[in-house]
Amino acid sequence: MKLDIVIPIYNERANLLELMRRLTESCSQLQDVSWRVLFVDDASSDDSARIILEQQTSDARFVLVRLSRNFGHQAAISAGLAHSEGDAVVIMDGDLQDPPELIPRLVEEWQAGGEIVLGQRRSRPERGVRRLGFELFHRMFGAISDTPFTANTGVLGLLDRRAVSELNRLSERNRFLPGLRSWIGFEQRTVPYDREERAAGEPKQTLRRLSRYAFDGVFSFSYKPLRFMTYSGTLISAIGFLMATWFIGKRLLGFEVAQTGFTTLVTLVLFLGGVQLIAIGLLGEYLGRVYDEVKARPLYIVKSAHGLTQRTPPPS
Ligand code: UDP
Ligand code: MG
Repeated sequence: MKLDIVIPIYNERANLLELMRRLTESCSQLQDVSWRVLFVDDASSDDSARIILEQQTSDARFVLVRLSRNFGHQAAISAGLAHSEGDAVVIMDGDLQDPPELIPRLVEEWQAGGEIVLGQRRSRPERGVRRLGFELFHRMFGAISDTPFTANTGVLGLLDRRAVSELNRLSERNRFLPGLRSWIGFEQRTVPYDREERAAGEPKQTLRRLSRYAFDGVFSFSYKPLRFMTYSGTLISAIGFLMATWFIGKRLLGFEVAQTGFTTLVTLVLFLGGVQLIAIGLLGEYLGRVYDEVKARPLYIVKSAHGLTQRTPPPS
């Protein structure tokens, strides 16, 4: 059986040698599996690509696809999936947060019949705002998403060839892999692991990128925000109607209607103005994504591919 391991790489020079060492060690435990590692260089500005190519000269199982510019984590993964050809494909990050030692376990579950085998975090190392963000997002996404979502999973996991082909068929631009992966269905299994600290270097996914990713997740997998605005609009209109009836009725019956009320008015105007702006913003989030889809630009552009047909282990 053939196994491809897809790893997106953006300026990971400090992790690459250790990563390739641990991958080789972990994959050498696989029996009857011919594996290769498909690195996708997301236009690193350091010498990550050179390090991989150097390794390739001594071990042809490390292959490389280079993108023409930095397209981002999800696009790099899509490029890897599109170039993969294994009977199963493992996806993992290149910063050693996803332990390569988990690969044999993933393969085991796959051979036992799992079509999608996901690494499920028992713990995560992030602290502070990042951690809070991750947890908030996972709670919210679980509650809001129209497709069921396996808690505490990220990109790390193994996909059967069938699942990879189906994912490759999904052409949408705003890609949120965990969501797409549940959307396609198939039998999912999980394997627990402890997420490690990034081995070296700074996180490449800045908070801004992560929140964009979170927005992609929510807006690509749920209409609930829109529906929520419809419901709250209906509720506010109903309250408005009742209040108007009350005051007009009072006035017609000749009662005095309060003269003051400046504070109430200012509060109401500001509140309703804010609600309307939020609603327009929400519409914009959907509309902008529709525009991206309509333009139908490719998800990424490949600059060059190196050693893609190779799968021979080095002579021992
Ligand atoms: N990455 C990438 N393109 C980018 C940003 C990141 O290919 O524009 C890669 C990065 O090299 C790493 C993985 O995606 O292998 C996850 O990135 P990072 O560790 O920064 O994200 P986090 O773990 O904070 O989500
Ligand atoms: Mg990371």
